[in-house]
Amino acid sequence: MHDVLIVGAGPAGLSAALALRQAGAGVTVLEQHPSPPPRVCGAFINPEGASHLEALGLMDRLSDVGAVPVTEARVTWPNGGDAVVPLVRGNRAGLAVPRPTLERVMADAVAAAGGTVRWGARVRDAARSGNDWSVELVSGVTRRTLSAPWLVVADGRFSSLSGRHVLRSRAGWFGWNVSYVGVGQPPGALSLHFCRDGYVGLLTFGDGVTNVCGLARFGLSGPIRWEEVLASALREQKGLAHLMRSATRVDAFRGVGPLPFSRAMWEGSGPLLAGDAAAVGDPYMGEGISRALGTGPALSAALAGGGPGAPSDAFVSRYNRLWRDRYHPRLWLGTAARWMFSRPRLAVPLLGHVVNRPFLLRVILSIAHGRRR
Ligand SMILES: Cc1cc2nc3c(=O)[nH]c(=O)nc-3n(C[C@H](O)[C@H](O)[C@H](O)COP(=O)(O)OP(=O)(O)OC[C@H]3O[C@@H](n4cnc5c(N)ncnc54)[C@H](O)[C@@H]3O)c2cc1C
Repeated sequence: MHDVLIVGAGPAGLSAALALRQAGAGVTVLEQHPSPPPRVCGAFINPEGASHLEALGLMDRLSDVGAVPVTEARVTWPNGGDAVVPLVRGNRAGLAVPRPTLERVMADAVAAAGGTVRWGARVRDAARSGNDWSVELVSGVTRRTLSAPWLVVADGRFSSLSGRHVLRSRAGWFGWNVSYVGVGQPPGALSLHFCRDGYVGLLTFGDGVTNVCGLARFGLSGPIRWEEVLASALREQKGLAHLMRSATRVDAFRGVGPLPFSRAMWEGSGPLLAGDAAAVGDPYMGEGISRALGTGPALSAALAGGGPGAPSDAFVSRYNRLWRDRYHPRLWLGTAARWMFSRPRLAVPLLGHVVNRPFLLRVILSIAHGRRR
């Protein structure tokens, strides 16, 4: 029996599944991919995200599979300046773990708790029918309809089920990533290299593989060649070129965009929205995964000790309010940062100014990565 259907086995959907299962609900997660896929993502989990993983009971398991703490970020900018930004909040550091590993650990935990994750099940449509949600899914050549009183939509940044309309254009901000070995930084190191038209971040995992991930702005001109985007960043950024001088690429470039950024939750009278389906923040805020992982703890807080039952209007507005209070200021900060980084002449001196002023940096980090717990 399904109490809750969850669309998407990213960190938002799996976090929701774990928390609701722990509250006693029958949960089924529907995911279109056959297994946790590689993603276009920097894969840095900020300290707040690590505290959500702790609340979900996953930290030991993640350490067992090689997740390593990230305590600081080295930031460099094109004029040769650099600074170290501390990332530890209270006694908690950030975390470096490849996305497929994170999602495999979470999906296994959902299954171990008695929930179901259906891989290779693409949801085509969802609609209210009486008190239930009815979901139409395609799995191979089979079509099925499932229904349940709860529907959590966690289908990511281009959500087709949240009810919002994502404008597809060819111009805007694009994300990309690729894996290298032999990058000159140790496991758990995070470095962020700002260029004229975006940035490149390097995060080294426990096994020595480095995720090289960038954000770049493009107009309406022809196809984007990610190799050339990285090559141009290497020419522009001495700090980045130095770290990558002996590195070897070990997988293919992946790219996505234009990214449909938002400053607020996309709210409607529809299902519960989670993660990027609720709002797409700026990647260099380093909190998208954390926001997604926060879904389960936010649902638990909105349940306020009661069992899952059928979600009432009061429950939905409690969840939405919690979400807005926690994330809206940061979504705005991300928009302001993106505006600034599209103006390198302003951004470069301002960034230097901020990272050299510990008090200002602490204030900005406390908005960006949540209050200390
Ligand atoms: C370039 C870039 C770098 C980033 N770097 C970082 C970073 O370093 N740290 C950080 O915290 N955040 C980062 N982010 C943001 C982060 O990747 C997202 O915020 C996070 O993945 C959101 O998780 P989610 O679970 O909401 O969505 P997703 O991870 O996108 O998961 C959604 C899932 O839903 C599935 N799905 C979609 N439609 C359907 C359907 N119809 N039926 C079934 N399944 C469906 C998808 O296959 C997917 O598995 C970055 C983003 C970009 C673009």
